[in-house]
Amino acid sequence: MKYLFELPALPYEIDALEPFIDSETMYYHHEKHFKTYIDNLNALISKYPSLQSQTLEWLIDNPNKLPVHDREAILFNAGGVYNHNLFFNVLTPNVEETKPSAELMQAINRDFGSFENFKQRFINSALKVNGSGYTFLTLAEDGILHIVNTSNQDVPPFNVFGVPVVLVDVWEHAYYLKYKNLRKEYLTNIFNVLKFP
Ligand code: MN
Repeated sequence: MKYLFELPALPYEIDALEPFIDSETMYYHHEKHFKTYIDNLNALISKYPSLQSQTLEWLIDNPNKLPVHDREAILFNAGGVYNHNLFFNVLTPNVEETKPSAELMQAINRDFGSFENFKQRFINSALKVNGSGYTFLTLAEDGILHIVNTSNQDVPPFNVFGVPVVLVDVWEHAYYLKYKNLRKEYLTNIFNVLKFP
């Protein structure tokens, strides 16, 4: 993705993830929250022609090359666009897609013992996000899987943790309309619609 950033359409119907993620949450999350990150990032990047040809990943990966005055705001909103784009794309109504491939399952078994162990560790990690943030499963360059929490709209450093495999949004706006304070129930249920490659 590059400037001018556009809100990507949801890759499924707004009610497709019911009952695990409800339509009202999806509507506000995608059409309002995600859209606001897109709009804010466009407004920031519109001030800096030299940044307009850079990819979203470049903006996130090169904080020292961003204008000092707007660095924090660009990183926050670029992270918001990156994380939400990924989040809506790792959700699926297709139950077949929630099963890891044989190759990923082998790595999960090697690094976490079993898929069930991985799931419990992922949920426990996500329960420990204080305030707003995300929990990621990433695949590092050496082939090792990592469960990583980030705060706010931070993205795990690509050079340390590699590329995200899945992530779960644990900001309250991702679940509060339906699950209220029951973050663990949200996290357990989201595994019914979490897409594994
Ligand atoms: Mn969100």
